Amino acid sequence: MKEDNRKDHPAPELSPGVVALINNGMDFLDKAIKEFKTAPKFSVVSFWTAVEIMLKVPLAQEHWTLVCSGRNFRLKDYVSGEFQSITFKESCEKLRDVLEKPVPQTTLDAFNIVRKHRNRVVHFYHDAYTQEEIDRLLSEQANAWFALNRLMRDDWKDLFEGALGNLLARDETRLLTQNNFYAAEKFNQIKEDIKTYKSTGHCISKCHVCGQEAVIQEQVAEHDNQRLFSFHCLVCTMLGVSMLQFNCPRCDAPALLLSDDGETSFECSHCGYSETRYRMLDTSSYRIDERALSPLPAGCCECDGYNTVCEYGDGYLCTTCLTYFDALEQCGHCNYYSSEVSEFSAYGGCDFCEGHRDAWDDD
Ligand SMILES: [Zn+2]
Ligand SMILES: [Zn+2]
Ligand SMILES: [Zn+2]
Ligand SMILES: [Zn+2]
Repeated sequence: MKEDNRKDHPAPELSPGVVALINNGMDFLDKAIKEFKTAPKFSVVSFWTAVEIMLKVPLAQEHWTLVCSGRNFRLKDYVSGEFQSITFKESCEKLRDVLEKPVPQTTLDAFNIVRKHRNRVVHFYHDAYTQEEIDRLLSEQANAWFALNRLMRDDWKDLFEGALGNLLARDETRLLTQNNFYAAEKFNQIKEDIKTYKSTGHCISKCHVCGQEAVIQEQVAEHDNQRLFSFHCLVCTMLGVSMLQFNCPRCDAPALLLSDDGETSFECSHCGYSETRYRMLDTSSYRIDERALSPLPAGCCECDGYNTVCEYGDGYLCTTCLTYFDALEQCGHCNYYSSEVSEFSAYGGCDFCEGHRDAWDDD
């Protein structure tokens, strides 16, 4: 037996129901890969079943009744599998409303593409795929796989405080098989794009998530001696990171800010200078008495940051997620400026207000 060195952090046990759920989901993921070569049509169905199952895992871990649909839940029925399970839509709603762990929009987008494809396959007879269709199917599945992987490893990490982590570690080989399969297939598809990036002088590096040499570095903005870069992997598309290269305003030592570290302030490791990111990066020249006229600070629709966007050279920069915007837009309802406002904002509002009350109950 292994030496138990986790006594200081006892992980909450996963219930047998949750373990069964995860094993079931993993089986369908394995199946999707096996079927890919022989029966792509079934592959998309298996893959989708896996996504639906995995989304229920955190809910079942919270309480078994959360994955049951309808009323009069009986544990006996749940254990024997004789119950009506919730739908994909209901899982997403409960993740958002009950666990307050909404599935990120980009992840939902990747899932929805596979879901629609799966519905077409199930409802219409579709026996033969052309090579082009197979390539697309693979690409869709790969994107959804990487999104699911990130959901389990990053977004849900604290829901299980180690328990899920331990289980995923135990299933590491299976997860790695999935990762390698989709990464290799996807890399094959984007090989030509990588060549083009290389020939135009872009820096390409290895991705720490999918292991492919497919991370493209691009300069997004430049201001004084500051340079803003974005990194995104062409294989596991979901992971975009931004990095700002600059010099400490006090001691001039080279410094870095990253978009995904959850920091809102900067502390120089060299001289100890510390300042909020907003005050350090804002280049706006509004005087105190003109502040009321300024569109800043503005909101960021990429990370839902309220008052996180400052003026930055000729454009605007979100000081939290480091997304650069050429222009801001104003909401016709609340007058707040943000990175993206819909055409009908006077009625429907923006990401930061509720809009006109007549627009409320449209679904
Ligand atoms: Zn990658
Ligand atoms: Zn410094
Ligand atoms: Zn942002
Ligand atoms: Zn608004």
